[in-house]
Amino acid sequence: VIIPPEVNMSGTIVCDNFINGSWVKGERGQQEAHSPYDGRVLGTFSSPSSPQISAALEAAAKAQVDWGRAPVKERSRVLYNFRQILLREFEAIAALKSSECGKTLDEARAGLNKGLEVLEFALSLQNLDLGGRLEVSRGVSCEFRREPLGVVANITPFNFPAMVPMWTIPIALALGNAYVWKPSDKTPLTARKIADALTEAGLPKGLFTVLHGDEKTVNSIIDHPLVKAIGFVGSTKVAKLVYQRGTQLGKRVLALGGAKNHIILLPDANQDLSGPGISDSFTGCAGQRCMAASVLLAVGDVQAHIDRIVQRASSLKLGTEFGAIITSDQVEFLKSAITRAEKAGARVLLDGRKATAPAGMEGGNWIGPTILDQVQPGSEAATVELFGPILSIVRCKDLSEALAIERSNEYGNACSVFTSSGPLADRVAREATAGMVGVNVGVPVPREPFSFGGMNASKFGHGDITGQHSLDFWSNMKKVTVKWEKQSESNWMS
Ligand code: NAD
Repeated sequence: VIIPPEVNMSGTIVCDNFINGSWVKGERGQQEAHSPYDGRVLGTFSSPSSPQISAALEAAAKAQVDWGRAPVKERSRVLYNFRQILLREFEAIAALKSSECGKTLDEARAGLNKGLEVLEFALSLQNLDLGGRLEVSRGVSCEFRREPLGVVANITPFNFPAMVPMWTIPIALALGNAYVWKPSDKTPLTARKIADALTEAGLPKGLFTVLHGDEKTVNSIIDHPLVKAIGFVGSTKVAKLVYQRGTQLGKRVLALGGAKNHIILLPDANQDLSGPGISDSFTGCAGQRCMAASVLLAVGDVQAHIDRIVQRASSLKLGTEFGAIITSDQVEFLKSAITRAEKAGARVLLDGRKATAPAGMEGGNWIGPTILDQVQPGSEAATVELFGPILSIVRCKDLSEALAIERSNEYGNACSVFTSSGPLADRVAREATAGMVGVNVGVPVPREPFSFGGMNASKFGHGDITGQHSLDFWSNMKKVTVKWEKQSESNWMS
């Protein structure tokens, strides 16, 4: 039997810290990673000490000098190899992601495909990000030169262990930076596959670093003078902390936070779109995604649509069509939130508290899809990000009332409308306070090159995390003005 290097003799994965091209045991202790499906130990990871973090960042800075000077076409060749390896390893990575964060296999595959799409966008930079040059006065030209920042860092949440990091890894590396990744301590293992794939692709050592741990690791990374930019994706509470800490040090930070996404359902909607679209939006990834439907603003008589949503959500099979919740504490929180909503007057149309674990997965973290009707605007179920498979229906008399509720929410990731009316859809697109709007689309994640990013308490900082708008975040645009000869006539610059 040939045992792959990342698997130890007990069959579990070892994912230590990836520092200067080697896997290094962290001096701050080792932890186990468990599967939300059944609680089994999937592997181990360890957190680095401060000196280990400094050594990693110094190695990254050293490696970046040469990489940053290489033409983008040269860097892209490594990323092209990376893509081929990810395609070869696609099923293995999807299986690991699925078992470490509780997604179904199909959901894990979809996330990886989105990551590959960002990688393909990054590969297009070698041909499309041409900068520009113009003769601005006689004998004087001005040009744009995009330059890397140096060492950049990214901190990611548990719910997309490959896709969210892949939003930034290819773009930051293609632009000539060294990349430091702090994965979630709840899903630390997929990092092993990504780092190994980059190494096999030929990425010089030091350019890709993995550092595990909690806020201590994050703060050491933010504070280190060699780290020039920080990307963050996670809850609003931590996004704010990271944004404040980084910007106080004068660093650029883009911190994506939590969400409370609204779907506006109008009576003229096509039921074949609204039923599956809304049900899949709140049940997909067991509700653990920042683009999940959370509040359904039901305008007028839409009962037939709601019946179809309930029917579809109730038919999902736990374990294969519907995934697990990240921790048992979160299951308890979700159950208690449903009970509180019920006490506050909501009607439970579908009760996930009654769901039982699939056979053989009794050690896992399970709750079924839940639909609450007659939820009051302003109540916990209508305003707080619960991050689970719970849809809160708020009844509204008209579109204006629905939009007023949507506009009063503190977040701003996604909002969708289901309708057959173009003008009403356009009104929602104009008036909703969300960075990403969908029309008859339950999860309005923009495809590349349209960039991903919300607004308000869902995003701190400027720009988006993928697509064209991410380029300026991960690079500096230098302006170079050139004159070779003294001009006979003077101009304003001479
Ligand atoms: P989290 O905020 O708890 O953790 C995110 C990262 O921050 C992890 O790597 C974690 O180790 C680290 N961290 C935790 N506490 C910290 C602290 N005090 N200081 C510094 N770092 C700290 O988020 P989570 O539970 O892993 O993920 C779920 C959240 O992420 C949800 O709120 C979800 O909406 C959000 N999310 C947002 C997007 C988006 O694009 N806006 C995408 C995915 C997830």
